[in-house]
Amino acid sequence: MITLRKPKIVIVGAGYGGLMTTVRLQKLLGVNEAEIVLINKNDYHYETTWLHEASAGTLHHDKVRYDIRNVVDRSKVEFIQDTVVEINKEEKKVILENDQVNYDYLVIALGGEPETFGIKGLKEYAFGITNVNSSRQLREHIEYQFATYNMEEEKNDNRLSIVVGGAGFTGIEFLGELTNRIPELCQEYDVDFQKVKITCVEAAPTVLPGFDPELVSYAVSQLERRGVEFLIGTAIKEATPEGIFVGKGDEEPYEIKAGTVVWAAGVRGNAIIEKSGFEAMRGRVKVQPDLRVPGFDDVFIIGDSSLVINEEINRPYPPTAQIAMQQGEVVAKNITALVRNKAELENFTFDNKGTVCSLGEDDAIGVVFGKKVTGSKAAFMKKVVDNRALYMIGGTSLVLKKGKLNFF
Ligand code: FAD
Ligand code: NAD
Repeated sequence: MITLRKPKIVIVGAGYGGLMTTVRLQKLLGVNEAEIVLINKNDYHYETTWLHEASAGTLHHDKVRYDIRNVVDRSKVEFIQDTVVEINKEEKKVILENDQVNYDYLVIALGGEPETFGIKGLKEYAFGITNVNSSRQLREHIEYQFATYNMEEEKNDNRLSIVVGGAGFTGIEFLGELTNRIPELCQEYDVDFQKVKITCVEAAPTVLPGFDPELVSYAVSQLERRGVEFLIGTAIKEATPEGIFVGKGDEEPYEIKAGTVVWAAGVRGNAIIEKSGFEAMRGRVKVQPDLRVPGFDDVFIIGDSSLVINEEINRPYPPTAQIAMQQGEVVAKNITALVRNKAELENFTFDNKGTVCSLGEDDAIGVVFGKKVTGSKAAFMKKVVDNRALYMIGGTSLVLKKGKLNFF
């Protein structure tokens, strides 16, 4: 009797794209049809889209993560906790820190990394909002600065100076949380609120470049009212242990002293992509419409490490959780088709449901289904969006466990 080996599907990365692929595959495929392996660095998934809250300390980091094993069907999916070191696409192998795993079909969903553009000192002296570890470290660092301020005989006001590099969505959402947290920190550590200085440095001529100007102006005035100073058209040129150097164009950079520098000025694809020899632009692979890698029919790349062109404007879509999850759904269908020897694969088209940018617990701006929203209405929508992501992956029980249910 001949027993045919089941095809082995390996998914690396259990973020939005990877988990979505996994939970869809476990529904679509029978146990006898394929072997499914999910590999992730940690045994938990974190909501990257909530990291600005954990970073500012307005939400505990345990609230932004959950155990991967709670959402995967362990009778169908083998979960391996390990770190991907490289992908050997010629030998169809994923090299891990502690092992190696062969695949027939591979889904790379390793997310992105901060793009530092080679700016001096950023890697060493700036904090990122990238994962649970970095968010926890940033929150602790800010708190340490406040806690230390009154311990020193000669007060160092720079401890209370916080610079945020980049006024994209990450920078603005972090500022929204931070400005809500600062009054609490001032009270907790007996610090005069007037001594705290928050500066946001943005290289482009506007905050949230490309977003609706009326909403941008609402966000800026709300954050300025809460004490943020915006330096627009000004780029961070260097980070040092004492702060940053900034400048407009070619003008001589000047220093802003700061005890905390946060770098939130963009993302690139995961370093594993380039290390593994994939042709990439800033670590992102321009995938085919069916989300496979050109030249590698058994490899799919989704999420922040993939690049999909918005044909309407001939520019890449900004990497978002919304896209990563929609890609995960399509990849699950396409792998199912391949396993079942169907020739036709589905092409990915992005269905943009809108964007909501939080400005803290009770405030936000957004465009939802083509309509502009601000204030508490937009903040309500943000919670709906956050809960929807949980529901799509773990259903009602995950929403009840981890959801944002404090609507009013
Ligand atoms: P991720 O969700 O980042 O997951 C990557 C996974 O891979 C992680 O589990 C990680 O641990 C794992 N991993 C990484 N490297 C390795 C390795 N070497 N080995 C093993 N595992 C590894 N997008 C929106 O659509 N809406 C929003 O409101 C929104 N808000 C955001 C707020 C913030 C503060 C930030 C930073 C981003 C936000 N985004 C938002 C963008 C969104 O979070 C990303 O686009 C999305 O997380 C990308 O999903 P992904 O699946 O590619 O990667
Ligand atoms: P981004 O690329 O959207 O914004 C980075 C900002 O940093 C840009 O405005 C850029 O001009 C600025 N910048 C670059 N170099 C600089 C320098 N040297 N000095 C000062 N400013 C500089 O990156 P992001 O905000 O990290 O977002 C990453 C992705 O995640 C985006 O696709 C974004 O849409 C998505 N995101 C979405 C949400 C949401 O939907 N609510 C929230 C956060 C992030």
